[in-house]
Amino acid sequence: MLYQRSSALFAEAKNYIPGGVNSPVRAFNSVGGTPVFIKKAKGAYLWDEDGRKYVDYINSWGPAILGHAHEAVVEAVKKQAEKGFSFGTPTELETEIAKVIVEGVPGIDKIRMVSSGTEACMSAIRLARGFTGKDKIIKFRGCYHGHADSFLISAGSGAATFGMPISPGVTQGTAKDTLLADYNNIEQILSLFEKNHGEIAAVIVEPVAGNMGCVLPENNFLTHLKQICSTNGALLIFDEVMTGFRLAFGGAQEVYNVEADLVCYGKVIGGGLPVGAFAGRSEIMDHLAPIGDVYQAGTLSGNPIAMAAGLTTLEILRDNPTIYLELKNSTSQLAIGLGSILNQKNIPHTINRKGSMMSLFFQVSSVSNFKDASEANHSLFNHFFHHMLKEGIYLPPSGYETWFISKDITEEEISKTLEAMEKLEY
Ligand SMILES: *Cc1c(COP(=O)(O)O)cnc(C)c1O
Repeated sequence: MLYQRSSALFAEAKNYIPGGVNSPVRAFNSVGGTPVFIKKAKGAYLWDEDGRKYVDYINSWGPAILGHAHEAVVEAVKKQAEKGFSFGTPTELETEIAKVIVEGVPGIDKIRMVSSGTEACMSAIRLARGFTGKDKIIKFRGCYHGHADSFLISAGSGAATFGMPISPGVTQGTAKDTLLADYNNIEQILSLFEKNHGEIAAVIVEPVAGNMGCVLPENNFLTHLKQICSTNGALLIFDEVMTGFRLAFGGAQEVYNVEADLVCYGKVIGGGLPVGAFAGRSEIMDHLAPIGDVYQAGTLSGNPIAMAAGLTTLEILRDNPTIYLELKNSTSQLAIGLGSILNQKNIPHTINRKGSMMSLFFQVSSVSNFKDASEANHSLFNHFFHHMLKEGIYLPPSGYETWFISKDITEEEISKTLEAMEKLEY
């Protein structure tokens, strides 16, 4: 049996942890089978508990952009750990990382650190409400902004995978303040602003969506959102938890040349440790406690070990901008290779990609929103996923997720991936 030890570990985990996992998409519920338990990772590769080796296209769901256990990051973490783990006081490191980010990213003056992307997005929404004095927010179907109550309305990622876009436990009171629109649909945004005149605090959007699979903004979608928000006194919030420091150092704001009012970060920003952050202009950020009246706090916010990992990762990205070009090239090589194999096999498909994010949708001709993504053939994706896993290629275990390419995925790994793809039968 290929996954003998993983199966035993999963059975044991289920006795003590709901569903055996600490985050739902890890459970393989949508693709079926037993999740693979990973023992270690280095560079482009994962090793499971049964001793099998995989080329990794999840990269911790985004953070490991430099590949796993990058030496400089490991060194920074070790060095900081020897000085103590957490003090509950300000540290110089926090200013250092804030400076690197504020100087490298368009349109932001100040940044506040938290411990997850969820925290970043929920804090940004509170700040937007406090700043504007309005209650309602608009989010897009299939976008995921973490698991805070306001966002679990037609959400992407695991919520989409498990067909539970509106979670029990979210009150009617909360749900009524979250308005929904389809991704890439400006008409719907205009009509929501008209119907809820003067009541909308913010529009939150993944500037390149990654939680319904990878879906790109079309027809100057982001520029239009910015204009509509400005006209109506609402804030535009870019949730760059996935795209920040990944599409470019300045994220989607830099790539699409649109400045949001607030920006949320996570994933890459912590270099693999639990970090999130939200940022914006001083006039907005200064509404936060202790100088402003919008409360927000965290015992482990700005944790020194996490800051050391994040700072080292960001400095490497900032000082080696060719990494972004290399990532883009490997991703396009992979996408073009996969596309031509699928064409040879007469399997209709769409591949969406931007920078080092990509997704493969089976049997649809284009994917611009959640409805398109859900019309893809997900059972074929699941078959494909298990074939690739057996061949030593680790893809996200759901057709509603994005593949992340790391700097350590080079021609060798891409060739391996394409060879595995050649063997796909269906
Ligand atoms: C992952 C993700 C989040 C949530 O971040 P967590 O660290 O898992 O809480 C929020 N928004 C987007 C766009 C994400 O991809």
